[in-house]
Amino acid sequence: MDLKIVLLGPPGCGKGTQAERLVAEMKFTKISTGDLLREGVRLGTPLGLEAKGYMEAGRLVPDELVIGLIKEKLAVTHGPVLLDGFPRSLEQARSLEKLTRIDMAVDIQVNEDKLVHRIVMRRSCKSCGAVYHLEFSPPKHADKCDKCGGELYQRSDDTEQTVRARLKTYKDQTLPVSQFYREKGVLHTVDGEGSIPQVYERIMNTIKKG
Ligand code: ADP
Ligand code: ADP
Ligand code: ZN
Repeated sequence: MDLKIVLLGPPGCGKGTQAERLVAEMKFTKISTGDLLREGVRLGTPLGLEAKGYMEAGRLVPDELVIGLIKEKLAVTHGPVLLDGFPRSLEQARSLEKLTRIDMAVDIQVNEDKLVHRIVMRRSCKSCGAVYHLEFSPPKHADKCDKCGGELYQRSDDTEQTVRARLKTYKDQTLPVSQFYREKGVLHTVDGEGSIPQVYERIMNTIKKG
């Protein structure tokens, strides 16, 4: 049966980075609400216009908007699925339960002092969404994506001040989601410190063990 996995963890813990590798090596389809919302903002869609202010303030976009987005995507996605950045509230977790079965929630844990440094030095590709870090995972050529040659930029919410707000949002609204999946017996916590390949190895082992 096709696996459906949720990636949990605070902003900057490595969800996007690890999802990118899982997609490349395990043929998962990644659904990232952050990427979808940023695309909406860039294109100026009604959803993007509504989401923009929340994202810039480091707050969650209202549940009904992101749940609608996920519903649309799940309806047209087949094979193994990786949800990156969804669910982020109990309301979202409960709605997801009605839409589909989740086999596993992988909660990536990283100490808070490391998260801010990871995020303020993050650079993202405008074209393909690939993620870099100026110190830990630098692109070969400054400002240019290794994978597609696209332009690298710093997300407008990747400032120290907004990161602090996002961390607070995470603690208040997203931590209960881990407890939700723990009670369902599908939560797996993974140490997200160490190198990117080390963390990938841990996630792979977790998935294999089921
Ligand atoms: P998230 O999607 O959870 O917000 P990202 O995958 O975008 O996190 O990672 C945040 C930043 O940290 C990026 O700049 C990324 O290159 C970097 N990063 C990811 N994993 C590691 C790691 N294991 N060690 C050091 N830096 C990392
Ligand atoms: P990160 O994992 O680095 O915090 P994301 O790209 O996942 O960043 O999310 C960026 C922003 O998009 C969040 O701060 C929030 O405003 C919005 N967002 C993303 N996913 C959700 C979600 N599931 N529910 C509500 N808002 C979301
Ligand atoms: Zn790229």
